Amino acid sequence: MRLSRYFLPVLKENPSEAQIVSHRLMLRAGMIKQSAAGIYSWLPLGFKVLRKIEDIVHEEQARAGHIAIQMPTLQSADLWRESGRYDAYGEEMLRFQDRGGRDMLYTPTAEEMVTDIFRAHVSSYKDLPLTLYQIQWKFRDEIRPRFGVMRGREFYMKDGYNFDLTKEDALHAYNRHLVSYLRTYERMGLQAIPMRADSGPIGGDDTHEFLVLAETGESEVFYDSAVTDLSFGDRAIDYDDVAQCAGVLEEFTSKYARTDETHDPALFEAVPEERRRVARGIEVGQIFYFGTKYSEAMGAVVQGPDGKQVPVHMGSHGIGVSRLLGAIIEASHDDNGIIWPEGVTPFHVGIVNLKQGDDEADAACEKLYKSLEAAGLEPLYDDRKERAGGKFATMDLIGLPWRITVGPRGLKNGVVELTSRRTGESEEMSPKDAVARIIDIYAPHKSHTSEHWEPMARQSFHTWL
Ligand code: ATP
Ligand code: MG
Repeated sequence: MRLSRYFLPVLKENPSEAQIVSHRLMLRAGMIKQSAAGIYSWLPLGFKVLRKIEDIVHEEQARAGHIAIQMPTLQSADLWRESGRYDAYGEEMLRFQDRGGRDMLYTPTAEEMVTDIFRAHVSSYKDLPLTLYQIQWKFRDEIRPRFGVMRGREFYMKDGYNFDLTKEDALHAYNRHLVSYLRTYERMGLQAIPMRADSGPIGGDDTHEFLVLAETGESEVFYDSAVTDLSFGDRAIDYDDVAQCAGVLEEFTSKYARTDETHDPALFEAVPEERRRVARGIEVGQIFYFGTKYSEAMGAVVQGPDGKQVPVHMGSHGIGVSRLLGAIIEASHDDNGIIWPEGVTPFHVGIVNLKQGDDEADAACEKLYKSLEAAGLEPLYDDRKERAGGKFATMDLIGLPWRITVGPRGLKNGVVELTSRRTGESEEMSPKDAVARIIDIYAPHKSHTSEHWEPMARQSFHTWL
């Protein structure tokens, strides 16, 4: 993309309505525009990152054997009356009537809708296990929408639902989700710690929330610092392997890590004092096992191997896709702007032309731009007739992890400059070497991704539907 033709409405001033850094930077970098309290338009740069995050979620869901569907945002109240949640849900549910006077609502989650699909089409245990998921807009009329996309009223969520014959199978589905979520967040450059949580209005027995540590997080968290040493890395996982998934769960959840809702001071005391941490965190996901709560209420039964009709065991599993943009920025920024992890960056590399209009500089930039595109990468070329300082400030603000700076002086010596946004370190090299370095950095086997992700890298999520 050439910046002169892009739509990147950056703000010079700090927006006064933004209380936390991610909200401020998303507005300043022209990623979102508020249209009403907690409701946003996604401008090109923000939309691009949202899609990158969504792609990763789809890829990891596909890898775990989960199947994508799309359910409507507008749902009939009758379905929710069957489960009893139409009355129980409260003020967060946006309710309205259609022209025929029928009660409708905007989906805050979709247990009822997916259970309705299941009971219409599945009647035998032979069709199990089954996990259906979607990535879809949700609406919750939050009492205090704030912090930009972090606590919106309209927000984008991955919600998945498992259907299993037995509690044991459903617990495997739970573990499988935990493992796939660990991979998902790591690919986004995030450490999200699974913490024992409270089930809230969805209701359930087993539940973990995934929290990203950040000073601006809304939840108070208590944990053993040993949990922050764990990383999923590029280990191979067979999602059908019950023992292996259970082993990962054990590894990542056996140390003390809880939110304030489930915090147990006595148990916390048992953690060696030097490892006890009290901090704040952002909830970026949650997994639940809730048994037969919805299947019994709504008649989602299958015929078991013995011929008897039994209600299926279910769980639901959510990732806050739009909230993740805020969480990533909270975890990765500096005074000058955002620092995107390579896995989610909107463009792979920025090209800054220090002297637009200089024949040699223009030609070198064009060549870099075309070579990078030919390699399947997305460069953002700042081809505007602007001062170098302004171009650098924009690149730093929008946070591309790498920048190639091209100027007449360097070109006389046959070099351009490659700069890391994270470390600020620059290196001079030939344009050809700079292209090779960028290609290598984004090669699928590199740190931001792993060998096992290789076959799926660079593909659009549409492939996985
Ligand atoms: P919270 O406790 O933050 O209100 P929740 O526990 O009610 O969230 P879930 O039902 O678990 O939310 O939804 C799954 C995920 O969706 C959450 O982990 C969170 O990342 C995201 N999410 C929930 N509410 C919002 C919101 N208002 N704005 C943006 N993301 C949200
Ligand atoms: Mg939650």
